[in-house]
Amino acid sequence: MVSSHPRPEPLTIRPPSEWRSLLLRSTRGCNWNRCKFCGVYPALGEPEFSMRPLDDIKSDIDWYAARMPDLTTAFIGDADPLCRPIDESVTLLTYLKERLPHLSRITAYARAGTLYRLGIEGLRRLAAAGLTRVHTGLESGDLATLKFHCKGQSPKMVIDATRWTKAAGIEVSFYILLGLGGRDRWKEHIDGTAAVVNATDPEFIRLRRIWLFTPESSQTATACPLWADIQSGTFAQQTPEGTVLELRRLIEKISGMTSRLVCDHANNYLTVEGDFPGDKERMLAEIDAFLALPKEEREQHYRKVGSRI
Ligand code: SF4
Repeated sequence: MVSSHPRPEPLTIRPPSEWRSLLLRSTRGCNWNRCKFCGVYPALGEPEFSMRPLDDIKSDIDWYAARMPDLTTAFIGDADPLCRPIDESVTLLTYLKERLPHLSRITAYARAGTLYRLGIEGLRRLAAAGLTRVHTGLESGDLATLKFHCKGQSPKMVIDATRWTKAAGIEVSFYILLGLGGRDRWKEHIDGTAAVVNATDPEFIRLRRIWLFTPESSQTATACPLWADIQSGTFAQQTPEGTVLELRRLIEKISGMTSRLVCDHANNYLTVEGDFPGDKERMLAEIDAFLALPKEEREQHYRKVGSRI
């Protein structure tokens, strides 16, 4: 009999690639909440961080198990659900697998600092309990850019954490933000990012363009911290064409990897996609073909894509 339990508590956001997944809310909001470029949770009405009680999350799992027993993929949020005590994460994953035995992919957002703290043994425990992939914000591999944006991670930390995660048998999906170095530091931003990718060979490289919550675009009129830097002139925003050149430089500098690169977000100006190393030249050729278009045509394209979250 299907229980009368209320519908599962919704997540704030999820990766586009998880649109068909069971969406399980383990934590609310972000426990870090300091990245200058972000502000997503406060802007979408979730300014505080909290951990949901395990029994409530189990009830949500029961709801899905009663109605959609054949689900094959699940995603756990909000921003950093693996920051729970590891015994609780293992309990949740184990329960999820027991109640939905057809799940073959269980993924979660994970901060690099959290993966680092879990260490290889903690990550192995999570993999054994069923975790198969983490969605991690690399954002940039340039230390100065990371520091400026208060990301709370260093390239070395990300490299170590990613190697341990992969060694534990968990796939890594990196998010990279074009434009994060601004106009003044775009080359260092991209070169450092390529260096982290080349040191880790993540399964996925997902590109996004920096997108700002301003007082107008935020649902709560809460602007991201970077907005004040832009207003004061401390941060010079990258141009649209500059982000395309960043994408080209990144692809050019990635070498010896087997990652899949995707631009799976509507705010990307170009949506190149492919597997390294085989598709590298084709991806570069697609970008070059765009850059060879008349200036007016390129600018028209930038205006058409505009700015979308
Ligand atoms: S980028 Fe991630 S870690 Fe940083 S504030 Fe946003 S949700 Fe939190």
